[in-house]
Amino acid sequence: MHSIWEQRSFAARPQLAVVGAGIVGLFTALHHKRAHPHHRVLVLERGPHPSGASVRNAGFACFGSPSELLADIAAEGEARALQRVEERWLGLQELRAELGDAAIGFEASGGHELFADDALYTRVAEGFDGLNRSLHGIFGRRVYEWADGRIGDRGLRTAHLASTDLEGPVDSGRLVTALLRKVQEAGVELRTNATVTAVDDGPDGVTLRLADGGAVLAGRVAVCTNGYTRDLFPGLDVLPARGQVLLTAPIPGLRLKGTFHANEGYVYFRDLDGAVLLGGGRDLDKAGETTTADGVTPLIQDHLEHLLRSVIIPGTPCTIARRWSGVMAFGSAGKEPLVERLSPNVVAAVRLSGMGVAIGIRVARKAAGLVGG
Ligand SMILES: Cc1cc2nc3c(=O)[nH]c(=O)nc-3n(C[C@H](O)[C@H](O)[C@H](O)COP(=O)(O)OP(=O)(O)OC[C@H]3O[C@@H](n4cnc5c(N)ncnc54)[C@H](O)[C@@H]3O)c2cc1C
Repeated sequence: MHSIWEQRSFAARPQLAVVGAGIVGLFTALHHKRAHPHHRVLVLERGPHPSGASVRNAGFACFGSPSELLADIAAEGEARALQRVEERWLGLQELRAELGDAAIGFEASGGHELFADDALYTRVAEGFDGLNRSLHGIFGRRVYEWADGRIGDRGLRTAHLASTDLEGPVDSGRLVTALLRKVQEAGVELRTNATVTAVDDGPDGVTLRLADGGAVLAGRVAVCTNGYTRDLFPGLDVLPARGQVLLTAPIPGLRLKGTFHANEGYVYFRDLDGAVLLGGGRDLDKAGETTTADGVTPLIQDHLEHLLRSVIIPGTPCTIARRWSGVMAFGSAGKEPLVERLSPNVVAAVRLSGMGVAIGIRVARKAAGLVGG
């Protein structure tokens, strides 16, 4: 039995409930609240704070490395692959404009890709100028340059380096904190430690069952649970993909600066406060990493450490300060996010394919549009 005050202020039925307080969920809530200021918008998050990929990632504000983009063009055709590059580029501009570079810790220190003298390098070298020509239509300028002469400056041991000055790192914790602040200032409510166990769309609205036995009845629901979506909708083509990360202790004299990819994007590393943050290696055990379980494995961590000591900071002693994992989501074919209506009052905005920093804000706008008024 609620008092009249509880009923009016806390128990009123939200016009929109968002499941998941990651980049996509928070921006979906914000876009909807701006379009409908009088709506009650409630975000339900199962963690004590946002606890998904948005706060466990590597913090690359990137639109793709040369090998990744050439592979995408080969797999999907140029039009589709370039459209996604444009989405990523526009998304990054919007994110930076919305939250501010200082607030998200964006540094324009450049994005880079390392190559050994191998078949991948040969393939990329052949397609390099053509790729730059194709990207000209989006960026209005040349995007990638070979920067082999700068490999030594950064202390790397590799054969080739391609660079763009249009990318750089962000601080993912500060980004989500700034977004949370903005969302709450806009009047969106956030309920943490609220795990949704079922979503039932019925004639009176959508009932969200909660793990604590409670329930929320909402007019509309946006499901923004990315890698965890199959817990609620087992039939959706949304496969979890765990990414493992390690962070070194600060390394005196570290010369690394910027965001770096290698091995078609399967390895990524950057500097962070004088230390190296390094992740990836999922290709070594794709079946094992198709999981929502939190954890790291010796197979992948040993591989990352080997790369760290042989390629990234060769000959420099260092210790590992922290290891963690996060869960991304991919589809069984292609990299398109899944933004669709699942039932009359339920929309899903999930499957960010490891690009959520860049495209999250635009995926959320699409989701808010689909949710409607
Ligand atoms: C290791 C790693 C490195 C990455 N690096 C980059 C990068 O450098 N650049 C980039 O662009 N992208 C990167 N990504 C991908 C990027 O982080 C994601 O695409 C993006 O964060 C997805 O945002 P989201 O809001 O869709 O999902 P999430 O941030 O995962 O948010 C989903 C939220 O839903 C909550 N939730 C789940 N189930 C429930 C439930 N049943 N009830 C209530 N709440 C629930 C979760 O706790 C979580 O907070 C990386 C990802 C990982 C894991």
